[in-house]
Amino acid sequence: MKTTVVGSYPKPKWLLRMIKLYNEGKIDDKVMNEAYDDAVRAVVKDHEVAGIDIIWDGEMRRDEMTSYFARKIDGFVIYGEVRVWGNNYYPKPAIVDELRYREPLTVHEFEFLRSITDREIKVPITGAYTIVDWSFNEFYKTKEEAVYALAEVINQELRNLVKAGASYIQLDEPAISTHPEELEIARNAVEIMTRGVNAYIGMHICYGDYSGIFPDILDFKVDQLDFEFANRNFEDLKLLKEYDFDKDLGFGCIDVHTKRVESVEEVRRAIEMALEVVDPKRLYIDPDCGLKLLPRDVAFKKLEVMVKAKNAVEREFGLT
Ligand SMILES: [Zn+2]
Repeated sequence: MKTTVVGSYPKPKWLLRMIKLYNEGKIDDKVMNEAYDDAVRAVVKDHEVAGIDIIWDGEMRRDEMTSYFARKIDGFVIYGEVRVWGNNYYPKPAIVDELRYREPLTVHEFEFLRSITDREIKVPITGAYTIVDWSFNEFYKTKEEAVYALAEVINQELRNLVKAGASYIQLDEPAISTHPEELEIARNAVEIMTRGVNAYIGMHICYGDYSGIFPDILDFKVDQLDFEFANRNFEDLKLLKEYDFDKDLGFGCIDVHTKRVESVEEVRRAIEMALEVVDPKRLYIDPDCGLKLLPRDVAFKKLEVMVKAKNAVEREFGLT
């Protein structure tokens, strides 16, 4: 069994201060980039000390998961802040022209991380379906057409990532579970995105209820499906049992919406439940989703608990 993270990690307070200064024009690109690099070093240290097997850089350079990519792709413009989820605002992208690959989206993040750690690395990138679902489409005749065009752009990025040495890529597609009626479009998009990409592919879907996407989600051409289970009290493990889940499982077993740190015993019981569905070699243990909204010390403690629980299960079953 391996432990991993979904993607984001809390940004150090000093980094948030630096980003503010940068946005006010008070520091230059060189200083800002040095700050990002140092923040990534801090995240890597936290992940290594906690004992995580497969790490990422905590998404220190990303402000959020849609416009960060849209800004780097020709055909998108970013309108002002749009209100979503109560009082949260985010800069919503709009497709106003043909979507084209202009520059790497994540390759630089991967290369820097590769240069400072020997751990296995997973590169998370938001999938085409979710980016289009969370953007305005003012160019393509249909949403479907827009999704496929963006999937081609992402395919180019994934190929570049593999060329740079990446071997494990995670497509983040939280919007999939909110539109089960468009599952076919999302599935075709995955085929386009991963075409000719010689890497292990996972797909992270949060915002369950997953009942609407089963069993069709099992037809997606990915090696691993990663779901949140802790948030829904592990109810969805029933779905996996019911439909003979036959992929690798990314098993979200840490609730990212509460500051309460789980006990080792409770996470251990959760992992044991997952082992009733998939065998240990196919089990990737991670938090439900990114940890960025938690206080940094809480996020770290949750990772530590997760690793201890995994180790306890391995000892119990003689897996080490
Ligand atoms: Zn998520």
